[in-house]
Amino acid sequence: ELQFSSAVEVLMSYYPHVKKAIGASEKIFEYMDRQPQAPPEGSLAPKTLQGNLEIRNVTFAYPRRPDTAVLKGFSLKLKPGEITALVGPSGAGKSTCVNLLERFYQPQKGEILLDGQPLHSYQNQYLHGKIAVVSQEPVLFARSVRENIKYGREDATEVEMIEAARLAEAHEFISKLPKGYDTDAGEKGGQVSGGQKQRIAIARALIRHPRILVLDDATSSLDTENEHRVNEAVLKISKQCAVLLIAHKLSTLEMANHIIFLRSGEVIEEGSHEELLRNGGAYAQLVQQQNTAFQRNAE
Ligand code: ATP
Repeated sequence: ELQFSSAVEVLMSYYPHVKKAIGASEKIFEYMDRQPQAPPEGSLAPKTLQGNLEIRNVTFAYPRRPDTAVLKGFSLKLKPGEITALVGPSGAGKSTCVNLLERFYQPQKGEILLDGQPLHSYQNQYLHGKIAVVSQEPVLFARSVRENIKYGREDATEVEMIEAARLAEAHEFISKLPKGYDTDAGEKGGQVSGGQKQRIAIARALIRHPRILVLDDATSSLDTENEHRVNEAVLKISKQCAVLLIAHKLSTLEMANHIIFLRSGEVIEEGSHEELLRNGGAYAQLVQQQNTAFQRNAE
């Protein structure tokens, strides 16, 4: 049943692509590649979970290109209370890392441990609740804002729903919408901006009380005000769980406790923002490039 509901979820998230390109949808093939890869789920579903996640020495190639490793001996540790950021050029393997955490695929080498136990020894549904992923372009349904948030956990109460919205810095703007939480969040409604959509998606993730929150490029398309709000939310959330940011923007990176720079599937640098700046390596170069671009835009 779970497989079916997550399948529907994935298909729903691809719906716009399917609409755009029936017949040529890479995404569908990508989805078809996925499920048979993951090993059968386990039975673990502990009441309390610390939320320590470790990717240890993982090497991974996609099924359709078995000879091309996109992650090579990749390691990463996530701890509750900490923000870890993954940066690097396009194609470095950042989204692949998220795919592995979602158990869409199984690494060929190495392991992924949650509180010391392999990810595949847990129940899928349990993991789905504990590891929440907010994707780059979250999909909102043509339903009320309330239903969109509660989609994360349908038995959530109104109080829990509002609590999640507050934590996601979304309650204030939702309250100001013409019909508040009853406002239609669908594209036709057109009442919700990109950044607001992002925050509704974060609320939808938080309503499950995850121990690990993954934000895939969450602020890349946001204006300064929305970016600031999302960053505020991430800082608050990180007090309660482990956060993994797949980030491109400087302002987001500065708040990370630990930054991992990935290139061609390998970690080439890691440390705090200050440490990496002092090192004067690839990360420092990226910062300089972004500053220059920013100055150019300002001129
Ligand atoms: P970006 O910043 O552009 O999103 P990324 O760092 O997230 O890049 P990935 O999307 O993880 O990079 O891609 C890593 C490599 O894996 C790329 O070379 C990409 O072409 C390849 N790749 C991604 N998805 C698949 C797939 N389903 N099948 C085969 N190869 C894939």
